[in-house]
This record gives sequence, C-alpha cells and structure tokens, in this order.
Amino acid sequence: MFSNFKCEHSGDPTMFEPFWRKMGDRSTIVIPGWQSMSYFSDIGNLCWFLEPDFAKEIRRLHKLVGNAITEDHYIVVGTGSTQLFQAVLYALSPPDATDPVDVVSAMPYYSSYPSVTDYLKSGLYRWGGDAHTYNKEGAYIEMVTSPNNPDGHARESVVNLGGGTRVYDLAYYWPQYTPITSNVDHDLMLFTVSKSTGHAGTRIGWALVKDKEIAKRMTKFIELNTIGVSKDSQLRAAKILRTISDSCEHMATSDHSECFFEYGRFLMARRWEQLRDAVRRSGMFSLPEFLPDFCKYAGVATTPHPAFAWLKCEGEVQDCESFLRSHKILTRSGMHFGADPKYVRVSMLDRNDTFKLFVERLLSINS
Ligand code: PMP
Repeated sequence: MFSNFKCEHSGDPTMFEPFWRKMGDRSTIVIPGWQSMSYFSDIGNLCWFLEPDFAKEIRRLHKLVGNAITEDHYIVVGTGSTQLFQAVLYALSPPDATDPVDVVSAMPYYSSYPSVTDYLKSGLYRWGGDAHTYNKEGAYIEMVTSPNNPDGHARESVVNLGGGTRVYDLAYYWPQYTPITSNVDHDLMLFTVSKSTGHAGTRIGWALVKDKEIAKRMTKFIELNTIGVSKDSQLRAAKILRTISDSCEHMATSDHSECFFEYGRFLMARRWEQLRDAVRRSGMFSLPEFLPDFCKYAGVATTPHPAFAWLKCEGEVQDCESFLRSHKILTRSGMHFGADPKYVRVSMLDRNDTFKLFVERLLSINS
C-alpha cells in the first residue's frame, strides 16, 4: 500500500529542502498551546476558516509574481488543492441533475483526476476521459492544467461545447518551472504550496474564485468534509509565502540566490541540462522540447523547466516503465495519464542524491 502511494505521488518536491534550511529562522513559526484553538478564523468572511494572514500573503505573492489576478476573486483554502478539486466538482455539479456531470481533461492528464473523481462513485459527477475526444451534449467540467502534469506544456482549454465550465489547475504556474507570460484572470484557479514552495506536507492549497455562489458552495463542501482547514498549517503557509515575498521583493538589489524563484529556476535549469545531456548520449529516449518565452516576472526570456520529464522510450521498447524498472529507475507509466506505455513520467523534484543517481543509471543503460 505504502509503496503504491509513493509511486503515485513521486512528485514529492523535496529538492527545495536546502533552500528552506538556509532560510533558518526566517521561515520558522512557533505556535503557543493556547493559539489557533477555535474552529473559526474569520467569521465575517465567506470562507470563514481562511486565516486572514494567509489570505494577505496569497494576494501579495500573486501580485509580486504577476501570475494571477486576485482582485475580484474570493479565496477558498483547502487541505491541498486535492480537496479543492473535489470542492470544485461539488460546487459545479447541479444538485438536481439526473445524470452525473462529466469531468474531462486533455490527454495526457494528471493521473489523480480520474481516481479522485470516481473513488466515491458520486451521483453528482464522474470521470469523462480525454477532453480531446469529448463531444457529449450537456454539462461538463474541463480541467485545464497549465503547465501540464505530466508533460510540462502550457495549455488552453480544448473542449468547445456549450454547458461547460473550465477549472484551471495552475499548480506549476510559477517562475521556477515556466515563463510567466501573463497575469491570468480565470473564473476558477487552483494553486498549492506543494509545488509553489515545496511544502507538500503542509497540505495547503487555495482557490481563486470569481463567482460568489461557487465560492460559497466550495466552502460548504470543505465545511462538510473536514469542518475547515488546519489553522496551524495555514499559519505556517503564511510564513512560508511571506518569506518568499520578502526574499524576492528586492531582487534587483539583493543576492539572487536568496530569492526562492531564482534559486528554483537555476536548479531546475541545471537538472534539465543534465537530463537532456544523458538522453542525447543514450540515443534511446526522447523528451519534449520547449521554446523560451518572455517571462514578465524575471524580465528576460526563460525556458520552461517542468517539474516532470515526460520521457519516451524510442525504438523497440513498448513498456517504458518496466524497462526502466529493470534498470532500477522508478517512473510512472504513461498509461496512468491516459497515454501510451512508451511514455513515462519522471519527477524532477527529488532530492539531489536521488536525481544524480537517476541520471547516472540512465547513462549506464547504453554503456
Ligand atoms: N494538481 C496538480 C496538477 C498536481 O500535480 C498536484 C500534485 N501532484 C496537485 C494538483 C495536488 O496538489 P496538493 O498536494 O496541493 O493536493
């Protein structure tokens, strides 16, 4: 059981640990025993369990990075964006519909969408498969993941039928992974500290929601599901976001390695360079190519360096996952993402030692 979970969630973003070690006390919080005892955080707010300090830091960070508009949006906090995904499905499904609403996403899609959508066999919604081929009448929900997990490409919605709602999963729309080309202003956007800062264990995500009624229904879902979201985690997340904003606010004048996004971008670029070099030398694999684009945040053109490598076994090998496993490399088969088993997803966010070992083993396959 445990190893299955580990394999499914091999995007554990532990590579950022050295940065947070370096931050030391600047990112530490102490919570006295008497604090955060109440269920409530902000009784007057639509999302009554949202810590005001966390909300403030979310708006500040988006403003600094310029990746998403927070004005005219309600913030709903969730136990990871996984809970928010479910809250969105609940909020968008008409309660009196005779058939469940289809949830679709363009292949290759994030492998949790089908399993999380269907595991409770809800009467409200169900997994509808690849958005490219979806052509049914009626209501549907399209998940648009940009940059995409697993292949790293920037995406737009692909279904063009009436009756649909688009939900933008922007977990990876941060400067360490991709150029920030526009300040997006979608009706429904999901973010998470898991990928933005690397704090997957804090289990905090947030949704930016334009429509008040949808924000209310999402809040209701979380109220029914977990009676709110850990205040301790929100306070920690607030401190983490504050540390990032503080470290990057004066980037022009300060040491660049002190800014989390610069540090992350540099590290991701180096890892991708190492991986591309190994793939080139092997002649057995291929990787997606990405063109540079102007990053409004960095003020220069940057190249995408996704959190996952969508690796393809070229030639005879049909089952890339098994082939790599026989060389002691654990990956996740393309099949989980609705794609061909010639593809696998490889995490680029593991600890340094593991990543080094991965590149060494990849290189040793051809030698
Ligand atoms: N969306 C995408 C696209 C992801 O890759 C992930 C994490 N793998 C999540 C959502 C879930 O994030 P969280 O840890 O906040 O539940």
